[in-house]
Amino acid sequence: MTESKNFIEDIIDGDLASGKVKEVYTRFPPEPNGYLHVGHAKSLCINFGIASKYNGKCNLRFDDTNPAKEDEEYVESIKRDIEWLGFKWDKLLFASDYFDVIYDCAIKLIKKGKAYVCDLSAEEIKNTRGTLTQPGAESPYRNRSVEENLRLFEGMKNGEFADGSKVLRAKIDMASPNLNMRDPVIYRVLHATHHNTGDKWCIYPMYDFAHPIEDAHEGITHSICTLEFEDHRPLYDWVVRECEFPDPLPQQIEFARLNITNTIMSKRYLKRLVDEGKVMGWDDPRMPTLSGMRRRGIPAAALRDFCERIGVSKANSEVESAYLDSCVRDNLNMTADRVMAVLEPLKVVLTNVEDKEVLEVENNPNAETITHRQVTFGKNIYIDRSDFALVPPPKYFRLKPDGYVRLKGAYIIHCDEVVYNDSGDVDYLKCSIVPDSKSGSDTSGMKVKGVIQWVDADNCVDLEVRQLEGLLTDVVDGVTDFTERFNNNSMVIVKGKGEKCLADSTEGKTYQFMRIGYYVYDKDSTDDVKVFNRVVGLKDGFKAK
Ligand code: ATP
Ligand code: MG
Repeated sequence: MTESKNFIEDIIDGDLASGKVKEVYTRFPPEPNGYLHVGHAKSLCINFGIASKYNGKCNLRFDDTNPAKEDEEYVESIKRDIEWLGFKWDKLLFASDYFDVIYDCAIKLIKKGKAYVCDLSAEEIKNTRGTLTQPGAESPYRNRSVEENLRLFEGMKNGEFADGSKVLRAKIDMASPNLNMRDPVIYRVLHATHHNTGDKWCIYPMYDFAHPIEDAHEGITHSICTLEFEDHRPLYDWVVRECEFPDPLPQQIEFARLNITNTIMSKRYLKRLVDEGKVMGWDDPRMPTLSGMRRRGIPAAALRDFCERIGVSKANSEVESAYLDSCVRDNLNMTADRVMAVLEPLKVVLTNVEDKEVLEVENNPNAETITHRQVTFGKNIYIDRSDFALVPPPKYFRLKPDGYVRLKGAYIIHCDEVVYNDSGDVDYLKCSIVPDSKSGSDTSGMKVKGVIQWVDADNCVDLEVRQLEGLLTDVVDGVTDFTERFNNNSMVIVKGKGEKCLADSTEGKTYQFMRIGYYVYDKDSTDDVKVFNRVVGLKDGFKAK
């Protein structure tokens, strides 16, 4: 098999071959202002994946240069999620630890005549920036002397100026065809407390200035980011060059961000769902956050597999959510134990059964080593209401009045009588087992087409099963605003019954509920009721185009 490479790997191969870099160093730079989501998983897989493929390293760097909205809780959750996904960072770093380095870079630029303090307001800077067809206008403060700039910048740092009254701008080219190069703001005054540095600073560097410096300072060779930064690359290159970092200078490479149908990945919106109580928290199993997906029972390996299969590209596109489900299903089909559960229990009394029987049942036919468990069988069982039809449609192979069906792993039964309750609904069924029809030693000579799952009614657990769907409904009638697309049926709770072994389950363990779907044991379980989240259904709805 020839190994296919993506365009980032092609670039790296070239850099290694030309001797530009000797080893590959990447970084994952989340802003700690929310939980990681499935889009971040893609970035993680690329950055950590490349580092491991090339025997290089990948840092985890919290990009916390913006003092607002950042929180310790987010830092901890991000670390947890990365570890869960199976990645190990080389260094754990905080961009705010480099504020001195970044400040020194600013001083260097001022001394080189490449940066100046500007008194224009944000509004005025915007209005003098020009357009794609018109050059911008130079600031009246552009030609301040180096001495004056040094003095004013120090004043900014020492808290002499109010927020917004002064900024430091890079002196590049107000006529550049690239708007990002028209004397961008690189430092602003902001009297705000920072979660790491407290009140030490009242000036903060802008992202476009801080990020290349952080990369260069750490010795990052390939700074991989999403496509919206493509236009910022000339500025990135300008900053690392003018700040005179040693070779090899880091190289920014952009790829298309991951979008998934009916899945929202903006931290802002996800935070709103949490804050407004629309979901149970950042780890609600419906959330596209990594902690939500973990709680929904999505295996880390399936998520890595998904990221691998969708590949890395330069063109924006949207991946169908069914494709992720398909990767999850492939994984769970191999790894999840099979158990029996019924989500809408219908009682069945087996009139010719007296003694309890213990059946040996296979846990997972796809496991490397086959293991078994014991399931009890007795007089009273539950089947699923949907497996019985009073008036069966044609070709109905499950249970019907005077009909036969096989109980999975047990006997063929015959429906002798339907018992109704006072309101005229089916209350329970009286059935009998066919002698000598036990699975594995069936000598009854009977052929039945239908096989259904069941649960021993005298030896089972109560289940609270969350039937989960996406948080967003499909786009209809042009309603594209996320807030109007919240799927109020995204979590439907049903009360079922399951095999006794589910009582001993543990948080995060996934099962195939036979004939129903894949489910994961949730931490909300109590002694009396075991809570399960639906991971995915059994049927694959994904069609390769
Ligand atoms: P959001 O817009 O959801 O807040 P962000 O880009 O602001 O996301 P950061 O914490 O800044 O989030 O992102 C950390 C890294 O993850 C960045 O390198 C960013 O490019 C990458 N990333 C974020 N979203 C996606 C996505 N949907 N697909 C691929 N990479 C992503
Ligand atoms: Mg961001």
